[in-house]
Amino acid sequence: MNIAADISDEDQDMFDYATVSHGLYIGGHWRPSSDGRVIEVVDPSTEAVIAAVPDATLADAAAAIDAAAKAAAGWRETPPRKRSEILRRCFELMGERAEALAALISLENGKALRDARGEIAYAAEFFRWNAEEAVRISGEFGLAPSGANRIIVDYQPIGVCVLITPWNFPAAMATRKIAPALAAGCTVILKPASETPLTAYALAALYEEAGVPPGVVNVLTTSTPGPVTAAMLADPRVRKLSFTGSTGVGRMLLAEAAKHVISCSMELGGNAPFIVFDDADLEAALDGAMVAKMRNAGEACTAANRLYVQAGIHDAFTEGLSKRMAALNVGIGTHPQTECGPMITRKAVDKIDRLVKDAVARGARIQCGGAIAEGKGYFYPPTVLRDVPADAIMAHEEIFGPVAPIMRFDDEAEAIANANDTEYGLAAYIYTRDLARGMRVASKIESGMIALNRGLMSDPAAPFGGVKQSGLGREGGQKHGVAEFMEAKYIAVTI
Ligand code: NAP
Repeated sequence: MNIAADISDEDQDMFDYATVSHGLYIGGHWRPSSDGRVIEVVDPSTEAVIAAVPDATLADAAAAIDAAAKAAAGWRETPPRKRSEILRRCFELMGERAEALAALISLENGKALRDARGEIAYAAEFFRWNAEEAVRISGEFGLAPSGANRIIVDYQPIGVCVLITPWNFPAAMATRKIAPALAAGCTVILKPASETPLTAYALAALYEEAGVPPGVVNVLTTSTPGPVTAAMLADPRVRKLSFTGSTGVGRMLLAEAAKHVISCSMELGGNAPFIVFDDADLEAALDGAMVAKMRNAGEACTAANRLYVQAGIHDAFTEGLSKRMAALNVGIGTHPQTECGPMITRKAVDKIDRLVKDAVARGARIQCGGAIAEGKGYFYPPTVLRDVPADAIMAHEEIFGPVAPIMRFDDEAEAIANANDTEYGLAAYIYTRDLARGMRVASKIESGMIALNRGLMSDPAAPFGGVKQSGLGREGGQKHGVAEFMEAKYIAVTI
């Protein structure tokens, strides 16, 4: 199958480079679903159907587990150096194909090309980082306190892993799981989001070219993720579930995995506070807010969801942010001048609209944007709201769109209390010139990650993850990411 056959002439121009296969990728083969059904893929910029991918059945899922289980012994016994070199080749190939892959992400997700390029660079880094980690996995050796025996701890691949990823970073959320899993010696089945399957399939072909053996990575798309995942988790050969997505689905999957006592890593929703103190560098805070809010048009788990600004800098910040947001170029993701693409679906636009209307009804004032755009495509304009009250729904739920709600505060204690007034705890941003205050506030905020005087914290070399309802476990970082895919085996030895 070839995506180029399914897309419009205009989009075709972007794809003269690519022959993206999009059958189910199982055991190194591309195949239709067992019942021949497909899922249509829609370009959110135009609402045009651009491709169709197979809709996997329970039989297809069983075949994917068979393939991953069959490949497991060979992959775990592949020397770490060899695994490392294959991962390094994945990194290099992603770099060589960066433009084409970015265009594909932009087409199926709608994000601006510049965001898609950033995503590919970030996604590729997980292969480079984990290529380096693959050869540094070591065990422990010591004497038992009693002196009776030696303690040896060996770290072994956990087994077959099911990986489930969302649509907002179709490449990076997949490589953030696949690269450490493969470094650890595991084989995987990836189920990407139904809205953005093409990137996952394009990358599967790239892994094969880089030397990943058949069955080590399998990819399947399905419109029935509940039953398909439940069936996979019920297979005793599956030992790991790594999920990135909403907290609601994460909770259901944890319950499902509990039935079979399967290890879970959960990267879930966020509600990041962005705190600006009076002593902040205003321009730096505005630059950071634009990145933290508008990367991916606001469709990021780490997106600044609530902007708390101290009274003394509040008006200047609000005015500065409104000017920058209103000046953004909104348009079709693949157009080079676009700075803010569409949302992923009409449903997402309607949700944002509901949240904005709710905030306004409770007293918020619109500084810019605030109304759904006419015409084709799932667009919502960059929007700034001021005087957003604490009881507005958007203060407690992920907006996942280009809306910046600003709330005024007076002192540090109030800022911390506001920031922690949420069930989530993924990311937080702090702007202040006082480093002692920055570190003090960072230590009191309940979140897995803090950006201090920065609008971006994601880095494959640092542990990514949340506390509270934002998840369990970490991805990336020194040892953290790979450790999620390993089991410690203790051997007591008398010598
Ligand atoms: P979602 O609805 O939870 O979907 C995520 C994935 O789960 C998709 O592949 C989806 O498949 C699948 N899924 C849905 N229902 C399922 C079920 N019953 N059983 C098994 N799988 C199921 O989330 P989303 O809307 O795609 O993504 C946005 C969410 O992800 C936001 O909450 C965001 O904060 C979070 N996120 C978190 C991180 C992080 O690192 N913490 C990173 C990125 C995104 P279908 O597409 O087929 O429905």
